Amino acid sequence: MRKDALLKTTLAAAFAALVLWGGLPLLHHRHHDFPIVKGPGVTAVLRLSDFSPGLKGTAGDTAIYVLQGREPGGKALVMGDSHSNEPEGMLSAVVVIENAVVQKGTLYVIPVFNNSGSRNTRPGDGYPLYFDIAADWGKRRFRFGNRDASPLDQWPDPDVYIHYPDRQLLSYVDIRNTNRAWPGRPYGALTERVTFGAMELMRREKIDVAIDIHGAETMYPVTNCIVAPESSVKIATLAALTVKAKEGFESHVEPSPAGFRGLSHREIGDHGPSLPFLIEAPIPFLDQPTGPKTTKLLLDGKDPFLLSLSKKKMLFVPYDESGWPLEKRVGQNLSVTLEIFRQFSKKAADRPIAVTGVPRYAELVKSGVGRFLADPSKAPAGGVVMN
Ligand SMILES: [Zn+2]
Repeated sequence: MRKDALLKTTLAAAFAALVLWGGLPLLHHRHHDFPIVKGPGVTAVLRLSDFSPGLKGTAGDTAIYVLQGREPGGKALVMGDSHSNEPEGMLSAVVVIENAVVQKGTLYVIPVFNNSGSRNTRPGDGYPLYFDIAADWGKRRFRFGNRDASPLDQWPDPDVYIHYPDRQLLSYVDIRNTNRAWPGRPYGALTERVTFGAMELMRREKIDVAIDIHGAETMYPVTNCIVAPESSVKIATLAALTVKAKEGFESHVEPSPAGFRGLSHREIGDHGPSLPFLIEAPIPFLDQPTGPKTTKLLLDGKDPFLLSLSKKKMLFVPYDESGWPLEKRVGQNLSVTLEIFRQFSKKAADRPIAVTGVPRYAELVKSGVGRFLADPSKAPAGGVVMN
């Protein structure tokens, strides 16, 4: 009898130890905040709950960095981390916040748009919880999240997701996908309150241009591109042609399908004043047939299985031994963003958006992302915001 009890106690203790060993890193990741340094152009930091009160005190609330220009002009919104397993969007936004000086107009930057998703992970795929970017002075650590908001923040999922307000039927899991929850509503699901906050920001501040930065698989046809609806397709085309001619990289234009609801590039233009653009850079980490999902693959984009598929012409982008490194992805995003601002300013001369200090593609490829990240320990008092 005593032997039996001892065995049961030992097994229960071993089980509890396994739960703690597996669970504590996830708990730490969920509560890990990372710093963003307020760069020379940041004039205010707002919260998304200022525009969507239903987000107050929830994991959906997130910081909005305002960079008001020296002269008046047009207004633009830049969003990263709509999908928190596509970090080149978030990093592009951080580089803008820490480096940009706005000469004309105003920028609003939301680096961690899907804050709940950035505190989620995909253990079945062995996702890393963090990744580090090396800089001359040390390194910066960022959370690596998942595509969807965490079920700890939004649960249960419905059997079928009925999109608001179009009532289109979508996959159940897409209710936790911020890029299927546009234009949102003030007291809907968490993801709907998040997109509603951004819609309210665009409506109240009369934002001209909204850029949602993503990454996509090399085996997915909508990759390495700018997705634009009818209203913004002309500016997108001019931006695509200009970066190709002047900077030598491809980013073609994909039309936003009118019948597919809930996406930023469709709903932003249909429900507010802004011209929407969604930018995709290829991210090999997201492809299914790769080796282990390591931070190395996330950063350098080099994978032998994709290389062999590339030789069989099964990828939608050129791919060789050099992979598709992070600096190339962030560089493309920044150049395309700056080019959209420039093309918009040419079209709307009374609402110019002029930004200096943001590096372009060639500078990123040459120097890496870390070269454009500030050292939080050197920032003045009050100069760092935890995200
Ligand atoms: Zn995405």
